[in-house]
Amino acid sequence: MDTIPLVHASLGEQELAAVAEVFRSGWPAGQGPRGPALERELAERFGVDGAVAVSNCGAALHLALLALGVRPGDEVIVADYTFPAPAHAVRYVDAVPVFADVRADTGTVDPQAVADLIGPRTVGVIAVDTVGLPADYADLKSITDRYGLFLVEDAACAVGATYQGRPAGALAPVACLSFHGRKGITSGEGGALLTTDPSLAADARLRSSFGIESIFEQARVIGLPIPEFTEIGYNYKLSDIAAAILRVQLGRIDALLDRRRACAERYRELLTGEELLTLPHVPTDRTHAWQSYLVTLDPSVDRAGVAADLRARGVGCGHGTWACHLQPVYETKQQCPVSADLFQRTLAIPMHAELGMNQIERVAETLRGSVRTHASPHRT
Ligand SMILES: *Cc1c(COP(=O)(O)O)cnc(C)c1O
Repeated sequence: MDTIPLVHASLGEQELAAVAEVFRSGWPAGQGPRGPALERELAERFGVDGAVAVSNCGAALHLALLALGVRPGDEVIVADYTFPAPAHAVRYVDAVPVFADVRADTGTVDPQAVADLIGPRTVGVIAVDTVGLPADYADLKSITDRYGLFLVEDAACAVGATYQGRPAGALAPVACLSFHGRKGITSGEGGALLTTDPSLAADARLRSSFGIESIFEQARVIGLPIPEFTEIGYNYKLSDIAAAILRVQLGRIDALLDRRRACAERYRELLTGEELLTLPHVPTDRTHAWQSYLVTLDPSVDRAGVAADLRARGVGCGHGTWACHLQPVYETKQQCPVSADLFQRTLAIPMHAELGMNQIERVAETLRGSVRTHASPHRT
């Protein structure tokens, strides 16, 4: 019996050819000719003024908070139900993450919860497009505008998704993308900061390369100008190898997303009516990038039992994502009951662009059988 993996990165001959070209060029490091080319293509695709290619989304979030001027002791409200990169980034700059609970139906941050947490030290909000589904940006933007706060979109999982007709990655003045191997398009590791503010992009770009301009560009100047370091920057550059791969992947977004969407539709057909499962809800004003397919199990179902069953039968699965406020590192006494409940009950089942329809059928059948086996009338 073959195993159906939870995730699989769709990288092939086209990407290999692009890498071979970088090898021949002799410049595999960051800021070569392919980085700026990728940045221009990102800016065009997302309709933003500035795009900065960086080593990962965690770096993009860190650079965003530095460029936005977040200071030690400031409070930044973050969506609670997510991979904890946003809260980590807040801690990188010695600020305080304040966790906002999420909508039960979408897992995205609840705008009312955000509004309720605003206090005298609040400087901004990081919303998350939860496993590929955009948050409520119209409501979030009106709240952040009213209080003069910044709004950052963590679109790590959402490349290809839309909200009210606009692309995820362009739903807030600053957005961060991930090109990690588990996301919709990938270079193994990689990320980008997108912004409508060119000066913010310039600031992030400088800090992404130790605080100096591009060494590659400097070498092409006639004469010997010696750049000065004016910032303690970081090395968050994206290599030209990764940039070359991403330029190919960018051209494949729509095709890869069509495949994921077809998988999601088939899961819905096969799993609808199973009363022990709640399927993902996508509000009509937005589309999902399907970075993950998360089902929510009825409280009577033993999730660990189901997961063990699935894995034993060659079906990959996972717990979904995290309730950040429950992670010991943050030492918070806050409560986000909806997020905590999702964290207990969600199960990620295989989702990637190379799943076959016969595999989807096997996953659905195995899952249906297993949730019934592990449902107990005594657990509620
Ligand atoms: C994956 C992920 C990140 C981290 O992305 P990296 O590129 O691995 O740093 C950040 N935020 C969210 C919501 C994610 O899912």
